[in-house]
Amino acid sequence: KLKGTGRGPLPPMLEQYVSMRDAVQETYPDTLLLFQCGDFYETFGEDAERAARLMGLTLTHKSSRDFSTPMAGLPVRAADAHIERLLAMGVRVAVADQMEEPGSGLVDRKVTQLLTPGTVTDERLLSADENFLAAVATGNGYALALLDLSTGEFRCASFGTRAALYDDLSRWRAREVLLAPELSGNAALLADFQSRFPVMLSQGSFDVSAARTEVIAALGEVPASVGTDALLRACGAVLGYARGTQQGRLEMVRRLSRYEPGAQLRLNDWALRALEVFAAQHPGVAGQPDGSLIGTLSETRSAGGRRRLRAWLRSPLRDAVSIAARQEAVAALVGAPDLRHGVRALLYRAHDLERLSARVATRRAGPREVAALARTLDLLPDAAGLLDGQDGLLGALRGRLGGLPDVVALIRAALVDDPPIRSGEGGLIREGFHAQLDAMRGEALTHREWIAALEVSERVRSGIPNLKVGFNSVFGYYLEVSSSHLAKVPADYRQVATLKDRARFTRPDLREHEREIARLEGAADRLEAEVFTQLRESLSGHAEALSEAAGAVSELDVLAALAEIAAERGWVRPVTTDGEVRLVQARHPVVERSVGERFVPNDAHLNANRRTLIITGPNMAGKSTYLRTVALCALLHQIGSFVPADTAELPLFDAVHTRIGASDDLAGGRSTFMVEMSELADILHGAGARSLVILDEVGRGTSSLDGQAIAQAALEGLHATGAYTLFATHYFELTRLEGTVPGLVNLHVAAQEDPQVAGGLTFYHQVMPGAAQQSYGVEVARLAGLPQGVTARAAQLLAGLNARGDDTALRRELASLDLTRLTPMGALELLQTWQRLARGES
Ligand code: ADP
Repeated sequence: KLKGTGRGPLPPMLEQYVSMRDAVQETYPDTLLLFQCGDFYETFGEDAERAARLMGLTLTHKSSRDFSTPMAGLPVRAADAHIERLLAMGVRVAVADQMEEPGSGLVDRKVTQLLTPGTVTDERLLSADENFLAAVATGNGYALALLDLSTGEFRCASFGTRAALYDDLSRWRAREVLLAPELSGNAALLADFQSRFPVMLSQGSFDVSAARTEVIAALGEVPASVGTDALLRACGAVLGYARGTQQGRLEMVRRLSRYEPGAQLRLNDWALRALEVFAAQHPGVAGQPDGSLIGTLSETRSAGGRRRLRAWLRSPLRDAVSIAARQEAVAALVGAPDLRHGVRALLYRAHDLERLSARVATRRAGPREVAALARTLDLLPDAAGLLDGQDGLLGALRGRLGGLPDVVALIRAALVDDPPIRSGEGGLIREGFHAQLDAMRGEALTHREWIAALEVSERVRSGIPNLKVGFNSVFGYYLEVSSSHLAKVPADYRQVATLKDRARFTRPDLREHEREIARLEGAADRLEAEVFTQLRESLSGHAEALSEAAGAVSELDVLAALAEIAAERGWVRPVTTDGEVRLVQARHPVVERSVGERFVPNDAHLNANRRTLIITGPNMAGKSTYLRTVALCALLHQIGSFVPADTAELPLFDAVHTRIGASDDLAGGRSTFMVEMSELADILHGAGARSLVILDEVGRGTSSLDGQAIAQAALEGLHATGAYTLFATHYFELTRLEGTVPGLVNLHVAAQEDPQVAGGLTFYHQVMPGAAQQSYGVEVARLAGLPQGVTARAAQLLAGLNARGDDTALRRELASLDLTRLTPMGALELLQTWQRLARGES
């Protein structure tokens, strides 16, 4: 049961350790149990070896007469930091605390916390972002349930295909996933899942009737929206698993929202990454929010607003009515700067209301959190006041912000302004709130005053001028007299300690007062803790209204942030069309911020007759930037934001697909080309007439003939789906498709050789009609600082290759000649042209 040496039975404490560990691991396998022994959390046996490895702890031994086992421990006060690291490494942690002061026998211990990456609720262990636990079951497709315990957000959805499920799972970035046995039991499926989602997989219970019990326990009923067994099982699994980690309390979960995956713009993980929505990709800032879309949009003022903005970006809308409602609100805030600034100034002072509400609902909020709740709620009437007279979404938000003055009044009346972190240590409840508490404190105070007066009265009585009343934790109160005055000590003093040059005494009545103080204050502290618990209890009754208000605050924050950006950066409200894309002077929101004035805006125009744009031009000309500009404008439009352009018309896309840049999946062991092709395969399978497809340099990972062939075939395939496609490429041959493929149009990004400077090249970043004339690869290489000898040689080789290109052109022309129609004169003319070509005279 426990790794160790020796034949004897386990000592009782290790016996307790093993039984607790095994009980926890039954449902939460591999959990590391931290077992309190005084000031340390200890681990034993093989767990100690693992803990030492994971946290770099020193491995020692716990030995009794006939048993010895490895042991590794960490100080209790350093536990948070270690737990945080363990969770980040994907390790589940259980904490068993001592429930009583150690005495002679075995100390009573209890598992007080069970922490898994997807179920953390402790503020210190959470980032400000969402923290989802997910469960997946099958039956008529796939069912997904998602739960964020830190805010109580609980949602579910059904999917027809695995690809659609995967898209959504990646958009919610679950920290921990429970797979139903029918999925986890299928080795191929499991391997595929794990290669896509490097998250912690845990074991949930997917039994239908257990699931029904869980759902009813949490929500009071099985909501009608949970229409299938698969959904019920997924919901039950997350609830059951989460409940186990929360010591049975799940009050933060109150509502389940079933969402329609198809109702959102589909954006898979690749697209989110390629468009740098949440993190930058380009070297230097890779992985950072700076340089990403969210980074440039981060004008939200509250933690809840920040999470909400992320949620909006992850699931942009597809219905025109909801989009228009948000646009309307943003427009109102753009148009009224005072309103906008006022709202933002208030939000700036708000604490994380969503998380506070969840903690209040579960009765976990400490005194400081309750005080923060009151301070934040206090802002709401002002915020609602600012929104007076607004209609639409802002008017609805105004309604959700009101209705909590009782809560503020209750907290204000009960708690002091600046309460301590914990209850039960005094100084928590405001005077005048609880009569019995006030009486106890008053009485304790009279005893203190008696002691305070004692010094003066005893000096007079004894005639000892330097007699002092002091206190220490060992003796309590004492009277101190220096050695020179010992003779004058009154007879009723009893000596308790002798020091070098003074002695300490006590008196029976002093002891009596002291005991009373201790008794009264102990009782007052306990009563205070009880009063606080009651306060928390009555606050939890407002949980519904609190989370309603919290949601409204977050939403208002996002709308105000989008309005601030639109106003400050000159964005426009896009018009929703039913197929036309027309962007005038559009900008890339992130690149524009970094290059500033030098940014060159561009137009984009797509519709049914112009739905495949081939964009050529040298490296560094701005092709990728142009592609992403169009995609980001589409994304911003569908979250209800204004867009960076002078005017904008956009349709509602159902998906944005991307294939951008060479990303080696080193961990997955797939080459650049494999990754590229599997992304392309997904796009070809998934794209439809309402999709926007962004392809950058497809076919680069293989030989250029292969690449070109694949690029052209893919382009033709996409064309058949009816998707709007922007295709940046080096393959000039593709530009020949204009005219043969209907709706295919060539564009190029302008660059020009500088006649003054040998090899000098100027980029205009201007997108123009028609194909590029040259790729200027050698010139770009020169700009990048390739040694002069190398670029000169490259230019020479290129000339040779171009001549050979002429050969192929010649051969093609020869093959296509219709000799039956060729006149002798015509033949001569042709011969003359070919000779000129071969001699290099054009
Ligand atoms: P390509 O895809 O053609 O190789 P990129 O789109 O990656 O080129 O652009 C290269 C660099 O040029 C960008 O990092 C940016 O600094 C600059 N750039 C691109 N487009 C513009 C623009 N429209 N205005 C100003 N600078 C731009």
